[in-house]
Amino acid sequence: MAQNEWSPSSWKSKPVSQGVEYPDAELLAKSLKKLSSLPPIVTPSEIDRLRYQLSQVQRGEAFLLHAGDCAESFDACTQENISAKIGLILSFSLILIWGARVPVVRVGRIAGQYAKPRSSSHETVDGKKVLSFRGDNVNGLDPNDRTPDPQRLLSAYYHSATTLNHIRGLLTSGFASLHRPADWSLGHVRSASVRKEFESIVDGLSDALDFSQTIGADTSVPFERGGTRGALGEVDLYTSHEGLMLDYEESLTRPTPTGHYNTSAHFLWVGDRTRQLNGAHIEYFRGIRNPIGIKVGPSMKDDEITKLLDIVNPSKEPGRVTLISRYGVDKVELHLAGHIRAVQKSGHPVVWICDPMHGNTLTATSGYKTRHFGSIIGEITSALRIHTENNSRLGGISLEFTGELNDEGFSVTECLGGSMELSEQQLGLRYQSFCDPRLNFEQSLDVAFLLSKHYKN
Ligand code: PEP
Ligand code: MN
Repeated sequence: MAQNEWSPSSWKSKPVSQGVEYPDAELLAKSLKKLSSLPPIVTPSEIDRLRYQLSQVQRGEAFLLHAGDCAESFDACTQENISAKIGLILSFSLILIWGARVPVVRVGRIAGQYAKPRSSSHETVDGKKVLSFRGDNVNGLDPNDRTPDPQRLLSAYYHSATTLNHIRGLLTSGFASLHRPADWSLGHVRSASVRKEFESIVDGLSDALDFSQTIGADTSVPFERGGTRGALGEVDLYTSHEGLMLDYEESLTRPTPTGHYNTSAHFLWVGDRTRQLNGAHIEYFRGIRNPIGIKVGPSMKDDEITKLLDIVNPSKEPGRVTLISRYGVDKVELHLAGHIRAVQKSGHPVVWICDPMHGNTLTATSGYKTRHFGSIIGEITSALRIHTENNSRLGGISLEFTGELNDEGFSVTECLGGSMELSEQQLGLRYQSFCDPRLNFEQSLDVAFLLSKHYKN
């Protein structure tokens, strides 16, 4: 094969970071063959539509909300959890639309976000060395179930399809209707001021909707190329996951007359640990038509970022690349401006969004992995300012959040602070994440209000 020729499997000639070794090669081949024959989960036309909407974000005409779990689990694939997640995504975007008066492009970390990169391949549990948990599509959380099992890739496909089926059902049955935002589980927001602020938006919105119905305008909202977005009660929602397991991604990659599409999700991103210039992941990512994200952490060099962009987007297509910065509140000042300027000099069109989660993880004295709300807000505020100072624009945000409730109807307690002032002692109350700590419903709305106020001014 010529040096530059790409195929869905050309990544195999490059070094694979975070690779998984399957003891049973035959079973792996069988699972991949089955995956290759299954229908696409999302369609090329939906993918093209998202790429177009991301070009609008890049031009400052819309805002990108990328959010969901650090990792989904097969067990959490329930009606309640999916509805709560979608409800939170809708509530968050409503606050932004209302305050900032910009359309919000919603991309969930959902319907396929199973695999996790790990900093070490093994861990010690009860004195025994075992393989690290790599996500439900690889092995089990139970320390006795850590051998990678290829059947889990198939299970990931079915859980993704089931999740997306329920999302599509919700969105076409009026769940997202702007006439019913109170249905999106505001019920468990305990802070009086957050409740009040959200309710005043809902009241204002009801008035505006009544008014537009009165004048007959409540029929369609022109948004994307090639038509209108349908009635006010419908919204677009796209899916995404980290494209970590390249065998899986390859099997769901389908040729079309306009190129190869990864039909497992609308948007895929490459993680901070797998974005090496000559690595397998970048090789795979450069050939697909989907819009892609690249995580940009403190170890990224200024010239590395432009080399990456030249590889994955040689034709400088708008909407194709989203750079997701994640330095940490202490490091954002050191790196972001240089990265912005390097990209500007290269002439590459990119969407910049801020992930204020992954550079701000710490271990509480009680042993819980957590994040301070203050650090999260600190990194967002610095990113907003640094973009403005450099004649750039922060086009969106990437969050790990959940609207999930426990059996008694309480939200999770995984991140410290926020308007609910969650303390270290409270972390253990409802810590449900088996991966990174997520903002709960109320803490997420706090972030939405901050952003909405920034863009309003
Ligand atoms: C993630 O987004 O869950 C993640 C692991 O991020 P990063 O690659 O930036 O560490
Ligand atoms: Mn994470």
